[in-house]
Amino acid sequence: MSATLAMLLKQLMPDAQITIFERLDRVGAESSDAWNNAGTGHSAFCELNYTPYNPIDGSVDITKALKISESFEISKQFWAYLMEQGNLVTQSPFINDIDHLSIVWGEENRDFLKARYQALSSFPIFEDMVYTEDHQRIAQWVPLMMQGRNPNEILSSTQMAIGTDVNFGAITRAMVTALEKMDGVELLLGHEVSDLSPIDNGWLLDVDDLHSGNEKTIASEFVFIGAGGGTLKLLEKSDIPEGEGYGGFPVSGQFLICNNPEIVNRHEAKVYGKAAQGSPPMSVPHLDTRMLDGERSLLFGPYAGFSTKFLKNGSYLDLPLSIEMHNVWPLLAAGVHNINLTKYLVKQVTQSPEERFEFLQIFYPEANISDWNLITAGQRVQIIKKDIKEGGVLKFGTEIIVSKDGSLAALLGASPGASTSVSIMGDVINQCFPEMSKSTQWQNKLKEMIPSYGESLIENGDLCRQVRDTTSNILNLN
Ligand SMILES: Cc1cc2nc3c(=O)[nH]c(=O)nc-3n(C[C@H](O)[C@H](O)[C@H](O)COP(=O)(O)OP(=O)(O)OC[C@H]3O[C@@H](n4cnc5c(N)ncnc54)[C@H](O)[C@@H]3O)c2cc1C
Repeated sequence: MSATLAMLLKQLMPDAQITIFERLDRVGAESSDAWNNAGTGHSAFCELNYTPYNPIDGSVDITKALKISESFEISKQFWAYLMEQGNLVTQSPFINDIDHLSIVWGEENRDFLKARYQALSSFPIFEDMVYTEDHQRIAQWVPLMMQGRNPNEILSSTQMAIGTDVNFGAITRAMVTALEKMDGVELLLGHEVSDLSPIDNGWLLDVDDLHSGNEKTIASEFVFIGAGGGTLKLLEKSDIPEGEGYGGFPVSGQFLICNNPEIVNRHEAKVYGKAAQGSPPMSVPHLDTRMLDGERSLLFGPYAGFSTKFLKNGSYLDLPLSIEMHNVWPLLAAGVHNINLTKYLVKQVTQSPEERFEFLQIFYPEANISDWNLITAGQRVQIIKKDIKEGGVLKFGTEIIVSKDGSLAALLGASPGASTSVSIMGDVINQCFPEMSKSTQWQNKLKEMIPSYGESLIENGDLCRQVRDTTSNILNLN
């Protein structure tokens, strides 16, 4: 997120002086690292949690899906622009073609998937979606999943052949490498921002050099807190009233991984199912082909883990130390209203390897336990927010918090995440630099970087097709 914002700002304001602080010795090594997330280019092609169902009238709300799909097209346009500029150079492709499928079991889920398909495919941005209930057709898409399956199972599936797998860590590192070469950009690795306080013209940051043990104080007119799980702590330190009432709840992700080439090569898709009733959206199971640094593997998950750390490389004190007077009530209230989440986590954390494996067998009936190993991915810190009616609510999205004068912005939350980073950072720019954003110079530059800027890819089918063609050519996608 920070790398994206820095790159956008440097394109808009070539003279800007930007310092990036990273507490680790490598950028993009937390949530954005390829092994710490699922690498799905979230376009709402297959993620059923973006289209809530109303079983009473059979309608499906596709508002969120349309927005996410458009946002991903915006990300792809920006990445294509940077590639052409030579500012996004990676050793192996950072984005790969991979079919996105949804598969559901049973009659009720079939009705939902069909209604979802009908609603989405009427928009050009989803016009390539295919729906089937035919086992043979599904077997052509995902043969591994259909072997040994009961032919009488009621199965329904949608397929989008233009889905992607993305290495967000590689994108982050490539952007930062390019930024470092630009005048006025400094990257300080092993530097942890520990405090920030307002001054007349911006903010004063206390920064610990974790190698030398020295402390630095740095002044800046504008600060973006894009510290992933570390954001809440810094937002609290800033004491801005807009940040009051926010808390965080960490949930870590685990995946089963298979590297046996005989199996890996028999599956080429990201297949998302439906979260079980009452379980949170991040529990949606998926069987994914991953292309990481030129190597192909197969991942299944996520399974939830629990740790009080807010960052994978964080401290067990992160959660307890984040509790302050302003968020203790929202945290308690959200806890009371989300007993299902607690139950789900307890069940996940206490399950045996065999139980975990049984879940995989729903997707891949002939799976063999010896081919799979459990790996721990990144930490998500779900937002807990003050709420007038309920006291506190748990949110599964992302939220930008901006100080009244626009001199500080912070990003909380983890979904839909990295895929929509360009749109989210575009929102930060609009909110924090409102006058400049409206200037002809910035508008023209934004249009140059993101050709669909200011227009709707949801309403304008021709533009959507044209933009997809162009970005696919540059990004080497089919
Ligand atoms: C299990 C899992 C699966 C996911 N799957 C997907 C997916 O399929 N598709 C998708 O689009 N998104 C996915 N996401 C979400 C996505 O990973 C995140 O939205 C995105 O990576 C967040 O980027 P970020 O820059 O905000 O945070 P990060 O990548 O975590 O970066 C924050 C950086 O700030 C540094 N930092 C923290 N505190 C400080 C400090 N005080 N001083 C200096 N540096 C600091 C950290 O070390 C880190 O490098 C997933 C996340 C998880 C956990």
